[in-house]
Amino acid sequence: MRLALFGGTFDPVHNAHVAVAREAISRCALDRVLLIPNAIPPHKQRRLGASYEHRLRMVELAVEGNDGLHASNLEKDNETSYSILTIERLRSSLPAGTELYFIIGADAFSEIETWFRWQDVLREVEFLVLSRPGFVYDVPEGARVRRLDTLQLSVSSTEIRRRLSAGETPPELPEAVLRYIREHGLYQGQM
Ligand code: ATP
Ligand code: MG
Repeated sequence: MRLALFGGTFDPVHNAHVAVAREAISRCALDRVLLIPNAIPPHKQRRLGASYEHRLRMVELAVEGNDGLHASNLEKDNETSYSILTIERLRSSLPAGTELYFIIGADAFSEIETWFRWQDVLREVEFLVLSRPGFVYDVPEGARVRRLDTLQLSVSSTEIRRRLSAGETPPELPEAVLRYIREHGLYQGQM
């Protein structure tokens, strides 16, 4: 089995997240991708727009109807979301021989050497790195990396939060996610 982890704040999840996950499945013949919202991401100590529960629920809505994509609550109880701990926890529950991949955007991958126990992360997973307009990255020695360069999507959650708080309707949100945001009054006037 070929399984990929795809972590992020997903605050909120948007169409590029879904598109890159689907791209990874088809380009790398993955069996499944787990979208894993971070509880408290070490690299993002800013105040979050939406709670963990809301972000997880939005990811559940976004993956509906997308074969192979799954929402995961693996980081639910972690005080801080260190990827290596999530990887080790997942590994212990999987059949031996499972190939693990890690989907990541160029912006996040360029900071990989600042991660907690990053050398262990490199040993555990092969990275599928998505290019992101405006970001370049080096590949640390020993890292297994496949560059997925076909998609160039400039959408970000930051821009979506900005638009929502200005009362606009961002076009890059899955319909069910936009509906959820409206129903729960998320991202209103806080940025
Ligand atoms: P924010 O603006 O709040 O940082 P974001 O859009 O970057 O939000 P994250 O939740 O930070 O979304 O990203 C989760 C993962 O998805 C990261 O690895 C990030 O690099 C990747 N990602 C997000 N948007 C894109 C995109 N447009 N193209 C490629 N990768 C992306
Ligand atoms: Mg980001």
